[in-house]
Amino acid sequence: MVNIEKLIRPELLSARAYTPIIPLKVLSEQVKIPVEGVIKLDGNENPYGCSPKVKHALAAYPYYHIYPDPEQRELREALAEYVGLPAHYIVAGSGSDELIDLILRLFIEPGDKVINCVPTFGMYPFSTEVCGGRIVSVSRDENFAVDLASIKAAIDEQTKVVFLASPNNPTGNITPQQDILALVETGIVVVVDEAYYEFSGVTIAPLVPHYENLVVLRSFSKWAGLAGLRVGYGIFPHRLAELISKIKPPYNVNVAAQIAALESLRDVDYLRDTIGTIVAERGCLFAKLKGVGFLDPFPSQANFILCSVLNGQAREIHHQLKQKGIFIRYFDTPQLENCLRISVGKPEHTDVLIDALKGVC
Ligand SMILES: *Cc1c(COP(=O)(O)O)cnc(C)c1O
Repeated sequence: MVNIEKLIRPELLSARAYTPIIPLKVLSEQVKIPVEGVIKLDGNENPYGCSPKVKHALAAYPYYHIYPDPEQRELREALAEYVGLPAHYIVAGSGSDELIDLILRLFIEPGDKVINCVPTFGMYPFSTEVCGGRIVSVSRDENFAVDLASIKAAIDEQTKVVFLASPNNPTGNITPQQDILALVETGIVVVVDEAYYEFSGVTIAPLVPHYENLVVLRSFSKWAGLAGLRVGYGIFPHRLAELISKIKPPYNVNVAAQIAALESLRDVDYLRDTIGTIVAERGCLFAKLKGVGFLDPFPSQANFILCSVLNGQAREIHHQLKQKGIFIRYFDTPQLENCLRISVGKPEHTDVLIDALKGVC
């Protein structure tokens, strides 16, 4: 008999799994409401979908039997123009999730430490554990701002990387430039995850060429409506871009994802319109959530709003909305006790949500 468990890396046997989003079809079956009737406000996806140009280009493309360009030349050139930096600073990935993993693979040896400013995105601890690193959690303050003094105090010789999502998921606030630069000064790798940049308009990307240890991650999942196709990119100091390119799987961004990203960049004006609509709706949603009476929404620069539930019924509200086919995120971690995160949908989604909220409790 082979004892397969003995061959497996022990830290992976005990690692916690990532809590994934439940697929639309499964949700619809769980509550016996057809997919068209479900209101999905749990994944921060773009309710307007991708650019129509993406669909046409994907249908017309004749070369799916040919491997993608491992150097991603066309995509990186188009991204260079969008970002305003030369293409040698840019590497694309199968979602920015893949770039999080590649960055950790580049820097983390077993036992090395990664600083995580909680509450934040769950992929950072997940990928750190898979790479054999150790997560050091540093709590944000009562306004969810990063705690610079505590982060600096947590840094030792084994600390390699700090992740800063800005705007942060699930709190929606940005990290000011001077705080990011204060951490860059410490000499560890500072990864600023700008997955929601297009909703905030705030970026530190132009400063990447001035430092050796500042990295910016971006994604097409949220603003461009391409979450299902998996495409993101990193803006790296030149040396790090070289090394990330060297260690990445050669064909990591598939042909369909590269076409979709290119077409999105050719249709930025259309996408900016939908972003404008979502940002305007974020303001309406915020006011209406506040008006419900038992919710305390937290100001957001992203396409979602975190709410603290004043009557302590977050779990119950989440459950009752789910039965009505409205899906939102529920959190019950120590930093997010009794909180809900609601993605900004279309105005009609807001109306149905607010009506349903008035009917619970
Ligand atoms: C959604 C999200 C991403 C996007 O990841 P992809 O792999 O590009 O889909 C990255 N970071 C944060 C903080 C997110 O919320």
